[in-house]
Amino acid sequence: MAENIYTKRYSERAMDEVRPMIAKVGVVPSADGSAIFETGKTKAIAVVRGPRTLHPQHMQNAQTGILRVNYGMMPFSVEDRIRPGPNRRSEEISKVTEWALSSVVDLSGFPNTVVDVFIQIPQADAGTRVAGINAAAMALAHAGIPMKEMVSAIGVGKIDKSLVVDLDKYEDSLFHDGEGSTDIPVVVTSRTKEIALLQLDGKISIPEFKETIEMAKKSCEKILEVQMNALKEVGKNE
Ligand code: UDP
Repeated sequence: MAENIYTKRYSERAMDEVRPMIAKVGVVPSADGSAIFETGKTKAIAVVRGPRTLHPQHMQNAQTGILRVNYGMMPFSVEDRIRPGPNRRSEEISKVTEWALSSVVDLSGFPNTVVDVFIQIPQADAGTRVAGINAAAMALAHAGIPMKEMVSAIGVGKIDKSLVVDLDKYEDSLFHDGEGSTDIPVVVTSRTKEIALLQLDGKISIPEFKETIEMAKKSCEKILEVQMNALKEVGKNE
């Protein structure tokens, strides 16, 4: 079997080490809830508006409010400028983020309403969907939206034969055996430790997959601590 060429991360991070994180809540005082979450050079800002009556009326649900997520990357967030406006990728990320957050948000007390979550990425160095989910969960809590529990999210994966957490863009683009690295965004709920979202891009064996999920759960414990600390500090940013 060929030797593993990625035994040491170029950034000198340990294989299970998340990039340095920064989290702040209440960064947009005019919104109902807001937060920023950063990991390394990746930055996500989330703003929550609502609950408010949903229009047009035929979209309303008399049993519950609905959650609507809009994710977008700013044109200057990466080196080769991104065309502004929605695209297939941003539509997909908005949808999966909505699913992940909907599993913990309880809008049954707000029939016929909508809660809008806007996620913007001013700087992207991989892991933007998970950073966006971390920011959005804090912004929802900040807005006082009822949540059964929090969620924390991390990207895990495989580079050559090494299992790693929180791949950055350079690692995301590394090739092995003629294929790209494997990237698995995972969202974990804070109390029940359920997986609220899992996507898989690339190839991985079942035992390795199980190991990466354990790594994701451990990282999410650390991320949750950062999120909760930011929520405790909330008054200081307002
Ligand atoms: N990216 C880019 N241009 C694009 C989309 C993505 O340069 O149009 C970069 C950006 O740094 C992003 C990374 O590729 O963070 C990985 O993108 P992916 O679709 O895997 O989602 P993410 O890891 O950001 O959730």
